[in-house]
Order: sequence, then structure tokens, then C-alpha cells
Amino acid sequence: MALRMSTLFLRTLREDPADAELPGHKLLVRAGYIRRVAPGIYTWLPLGMQVLAKVENIVREEMQRIGSQEVKFPALLPREPYDATGRWDEYGDLLFRLKDRKDADMLLGPTHEEMFCLTVKDMYSSYKDLPLALFQIQNKYRDEARPRAGILRGREFIMKDSYSFDIDAAGLQKAYDAHREAYIRMFNRLGFEYVIVKADSGAMGGSASEEFLAVSPHGEDTFVRDDSGYAANVEAVEVPQAPEVEVTAGPAHVEPTPDTPTIDTLVAALNKDHPRDDGREWTAADTLKNVIVMLVHPDGTREPLAIGLPGDREVDAKRLEVKVAPAEVDAFEEKDFAANPTLSKGYIGPGVLGEEKASGIRYLLDPSVAVGSAWVTGADKHGHHVIDLVHGRDFTADGTIQAAEIREGDASPTGHGTLKLARGIEMGHIFQLGTKYAEALGLKVLDENGKRVTVTMGSYGVGVTRAVGAIAEDNLDDLGLIWPRNVAPADVHVVATGKDEAVFVKAEEIVRELEAAGVEVLFDDRRKVSPGVKFKDSELIGVPTILVVGKGLADGKVELKDRRSGERRDVALAEVVAEVTREITEEPATL
Ligand code: ATP
Ligand code: MG
Repeated sequence: MALRMSTLFLRTLREDPADAELPGHKLLVRAGYIRRVAPGIYTWLPLGMQVLAKVENIVREEMQRIGSQEVKFPALLPREPYDATGRWDEYGDLLFRLKDRKDADMLLGPTHEEMFCLTVKDMYSSYKDLPLALFQIQNKYRDEARPRAGILRGREFIMKDSYSFDIDAAGLQKAYDAHREAYIRMFNRLGFEYVIVKADSGAMGGSASEEFLAVSPHGEDTFVRDDSGYAANVEAVEVPQAPEVEVTAGPAHVEPTPDTPTIDTLVAALNKDHPRDDGREWTAADTLKNVIVMLVHPDGTREPLAIGLPGDREVDAKRLEVKVAPAEVDAFEEKDFAANPTLSKGYIGPGVLGEEKASGIRYLLDPSVAVGSAWVTGADKHGHHVIDLVHGRDFTADGTIQAAEIREGDASPTGHGTLKLARGIEMGHIFQLGTKYAEALGLKVLDENGKRVTVTMGSYGVGVTRAVGAIAEDNLDDLGLIWPRNVAPADVHVVATGKDEAVFVKAEEIVRELEAAGVEVLFDDRRKVSPGVKFKDSELIGVPTILVVGKGLADGKVELKDRRSGERRDVALAEVVAEVTREITEEPATL
């Protein structure tokens, strides 16, 4: 049935919503697809439901194609399974926790590994029951610190989550590969440019893990790529350990460097008071900066951590976060310095850092700090630095950490050229969980020899409502949205204009014919609304093909408009159905 604008639950807005930052978000609200209820919480209106249903169906079809079966778990869940895996605590503030009337702890599911695992455990007991793949398309709840761009990062959002269950690693690999293929087909059909990047599985604690990122300047994720086809999330880039170099520096010597608590002031003082023998200027890259952070472990204990890295680099907060998870990173504050008197703020050096040293603080080095290389670094004494301190000769650390920022132009870890940086929106995530959850919850089956073995799992997510948001951000112009055909709320937007009742009668007839031919129609059948308003609304709503029934009727013609290119052409009445059908099927599915 055609959606009729005369009765459609819709009120388009001429003004941007006050709280919207991104253009697609503004248009989704203005064009009447979604409406905000609270930060990160949105209502879906009829037009939005059309788009959402199309996205869901594409996702559903591709999951079913690989033999995954649809189920639906509740969003309201008991605490116990999440205690068993440790995630009741690990999730921290992200988790919506609540109590029922009997004072029992409950939560709103942020993702469902535990529940799927337990249900399979309840129902299955033999290797003969496997492999198994299940999925659901369901509401998820996360109390995001920064809900963003309407539905891109919501606090209630729809996710497709699937889980695979296998008897061994080879089975898991097969399930993973099938999901990867399904995602490729899915995202091709949804019509956005994407990259597949190696991800860090972070708190989930798995091995192989990849993310599908929609390439977008609005993305919150930074990824790198090189010319060989390598792509990785910045969090997942593994900077190779710099090979050992021959020691050329003379003995280390401590020098007074008053008022040099920052790298810039230090470099200036070095060049002024301690010029190098080889005539080259000192730069920030010659200094070893030691950054102290406070780790907060899930049980609440606080542990200082020292990170040594070249002075021209910063610690990347996100890279650090995934490396220390499930611990969280907090600032090292004045009171922490007071509690660690061996640390001389602004002049901290490897002399006191390390579990075996005076501070007792774990000390991890950036892998670019080669054994044999010489550094200027803090001398652990106010106003003093040490010059020519050689890694491996004069100091060692407790290990390395991949936490320094990655920069455009850095050498690629593949050895092929340099890295380029770009931004993306995480649309999907696939990973091999392995036995972590099955072990915690006791999901075992009997193998061929009658031995109980732990099932190995994969977990695979797609942001369904996020996909609608990402597609909107990527398909718009100054006038409004321009949906790719596969997800547009209708195939054609028929606009009847003018005051002449005969126009509306004719338009009704055309709409009926189009529908009989299987074309989905949004029909602007509103009387007493000016053509100007109708055209503006059609541009705002963004159905890719617009059919104007109006003045031309006298000559037996209607006007066919392409929303994307703005091209218009007259079509004879007798040709309308054939022309519209051609138009909407011709365009490649993956715009
Ligand atoms: P992000 O890094 O963006 O917070 P995530 O890694 O926490 O996402 P997963 O747990 O992997 O997300 O969830 C699977 C998918 O669900 C993601 O790939 C993303 O598309 C979607 N998703 C996650 N969080 C949100 C959210 N707050 N709003 C909308 N979609 C989301
Ligand atoms: Mg993820």
C-alpha cells in the first residue's frame, strides 16, 4: 500500500534541531524519520520504519544465507550470568543496571554472549548438535558517555548479534569466514564504502577480530592503510620492535637543566647549554619522555604505570585503553605524586622506574626505543636531565607497550611503504571469542570419543540503527537526504500538484498502476498544499526518484526527476510504469 502524505504521521521541519551536530542527523529529524526522546534515545516514525525494515531485511537475508537461525532474547536480563563472566563489573558505567521489586539485580543487555551460551548449554550436549549459528536483531542498551549524532551512537539501539558454536578451532574458523563473507555481501548491498580492518578485541578477549568501518569523515575511529591493501584500526597497529643498534654514545652524564619540565623547554636548553658533539641540533625525538598514568583495575585497585616513549610522540589514549583493558586509565594526580616521592615531576627517568627500582612502578617502553640507542631523559632530580643514557646498557624496562600515537607517514608494519590515516564508523565487528565464555559458563559437549570438551564460540555484531545513520550521513546534499535505492523508504515519490481535482484522480490511477507493477510508492496526495512545499518536502525526504503529476497532464505528460543528479525529463503517460520500473531497477544495487 502506498504511503499517503495526506494521512502519513509526519511533520517535516524547516529548522534544524538544536542538539544535532551532523548533517545527516539533522536531516533525519527534519524529514520526519526519527525524533529525539532523550540523549541517545530516539523514536522511529513511519518513514524511518520503512528504512529500518529494509536495512534489517538485508541483514537478515545475509545471515540466513549462511545458515544462521533467527531467535530473539529478552533485553531485560538477570545479573548472575554476567557475574560468572565478570562483565557485571567490567562493563563499568556503560551497563544499565536496575533492580526488580524483590530487590534482585537486573540489567539491560549491552550484548548477549552469556545468554546465548547458556541457552545452547541448556539444549545441546553432543558434538553431533554442532556446528550451530544463531542470530537476533534486537534492542541493546549501553549508557554511552557521549551519545552522538542521534542514532550513530545511541543508548538504546538495534544490533544484529550472532554467535557461532563449534567443537574445535577449525570449525570456528569456518564459521568466522562465513560471517565475513556474509558481512561483505551485506555491506555491499547497504551501499556504503567500507574497509575491513584488523581490530583489537579489547575487553572481549578473543583472538582473530576484524571490524567493518564505513569510511567517513564523521567517524570516531581512526584507521590506517598502506598501499599493499593492509588496513588496521589504530588500536590494532603493531609497531615492530626496533632492532638493536650498536652503542656509539659515550658514558651517560647528569646535567643541570633548570626550568625544563616540558620537552620544548628541554630541547631549547640542550641546544643552548649542551650542544651535541656531532653538530646536529637536539630535537624532541632525542628525548625519552616518561608518562605516568593510573590504572584502575576492575576490583578497584589502583596501580601506577610508567610509559617511556620518544619525546616527539604522545601516548594515544585509545591504544593505551585497549592494551590495559579490563583496567581503566585514570590521570596520575598531585596526590599520587605525593604518595610516590621518588618521582620528580617533570624530571622522571628510568633511574627510578621499574618494578625492581626505587619507585616500584611498572615501566613499559615504546617498541621504537631500540636496545643500544642513547637518550636524554629525566635524572629523577628536580631541574636535572641525564644525557646519553643507553637502553640496555644504562637502563632496562619491564617490557614494551604499543600505546604511542600512530602518525600519517609512519613506516607500515607490513614493510610496504608508509601509513595513511583515515576515519571510519564501526558498522560491524566479527571475532573469534574462543572458549572464554563457554569456559566461564560451563558450555561443554561430548566429543566423538565421549570426552567432554569446551565449545568454541564466535561473536558477530552489526549496528542496524547505526547503519541507517551512517547511510544518511553519506547520502545527502543541501536540500535533504538522497537514499540509496536498496534502503529508500519508497521506490518513487509521486507528487500531485495544483488545485485541479483531475490531477489527483490521474495521479491515483498512476499510483495504482505502479503498485500493481510491484513499485513501492510514497504519494503526496495532499490537497491545499502548495507545489513549492511539496517539492521541498520531496527533496528533504530523499526518495531517489520523484514523479511529478501536474501541469504537463494537459499534454499527456508527467515529469520524472532524479533526486541525486537533479535531472528532469518528461515522460508520456503511457510510458510511466515502464520508465519508472526501468529507472529503479537500472541503477546498480550498490550505489
Ligand atoms: P564502538 O567502538 O563504536 O563503541 P563497540 O566496539 O563497542 O562499538 P560492539 O560491541 O562490537 O561495538 O557492537 C557491535 C556493533 O554494534 C558495532 O560494530 C556497532 O555497529 C554497533 N554499536 C555499538 N555501540 C553502538 C551504539 N552505542 N549505538 C549504535 N550502534 C552501536
Ligand atoms: Mg567493536
